[in-house]
Amino acid sequence: MAKKNAKKSKKKDAKRASDDSISSALRVTPGFQLSDLDPTATPAFSGKKQDAAEAMESTRAEIDDLQERLYAGGRDGDGPAILLVVQGMDTSGKGGIMRHVVGAVDPQGVKLHAFKAPTAEERRHPFLWRIRRELPEPGYIGVFDRSHYEDVLVVRVHDLVPPSTWGRRYGQINTFERSANDKGIHLIKVMLHISADEQKARLAERLERPDKYWKFNPGDIDEREHWDHYQEAYQAVLDKTSTDENPWYVVPADRKWYARLAVQQLLLDKLRELDPGWPDADFDVAEQKRRLAAT
Ligand code: AMP
Ligand code: MG
Repeated sequence: MAKKNAKKSKKKDAKRASDDSISSALRVTPGFQLSDLDPTATPAFSGKKQDAAEAMESTRAEIDDLQERLYAGGRDGDGPAILLVVQGMDTSGKGGIMRHVVGAVDPQGVKLHAFKAPTAEERRHPFLWRIRRELPEPGYIGVFDRSHYEDVLVVRVHDLVPPSTWGRRYGQINTFERSANDKGIHLIKVMLHISADEQKARLAERLERPDKYWKFNPGDIDEREHWDHYQEAYQAVLDKTSTDENPWYVVPADRKWYARLAVQQLLLDKLRELDPGWPDADFDVAEQKRRLAAT
């Protein structure tokens, strides 16, 4: 029996080591060039689609447990939170991440927000105003489907503000994210990286299938015309805002199954790093047992 357990835990350790390497393989380090990364690659994972699904399933229970601890720890208004920021070109699979990765977590503890073009009210405030309002409270996993980074992506590509204005935003974003860290918010910043060909195929599919028409936006074809400019803007984001405290992870996303596994792994690694314990009782357990027994 002891032997069996030892074997089991050894196997688990081996699995863990290879899991960690997905995160480290995707972490942006100085000199990283987006154009050098093959969007069809599956860094630190040698399996196929079915293996990825199995790998995701095998860590579900652990994620559930860690997430419940995180949530429990926040109930007294204190303790850490996680913020998963998901960026990527149109059709890069942000929706699939929301459904398959975020959707697998207890919805009670998740706060998801999709950032669209700012409303008239939002435009009257500094660009971080609407972002600040959506930061997760202690215990929560906040998820941003698009984010403050749109303010140096679409905004930069389309000259929605003068270059001197968007140029200042990288530094403002770094400061903002550090102040979020000071409040106990741990960021996971993910860019889903697809190829232009894969985007074309995904848009074509949306035009072929009536069940996908709802996802098609004619504006996506206009945006596609600015592909190179967007890649440049993403490169600038990675150069200027991938910091030691709040690094970016670039996930090759032409294979949806890999992207989902990778993001789940990033979330799991962050939860393991936080390793939240169960909060102590804020009542006298023995006394409450006595009271209950007397009923
Ligand atoms: P989707 O994610 O497909 O629902 O589209 C949301 C749209 O909102 C995208 O076209 C984004 O570029 C746009 N968007 C998000 N944030 C901003 C922003 N800060 N300024 C301008 N457009 C934005
Ligand atoms: Mg869209």
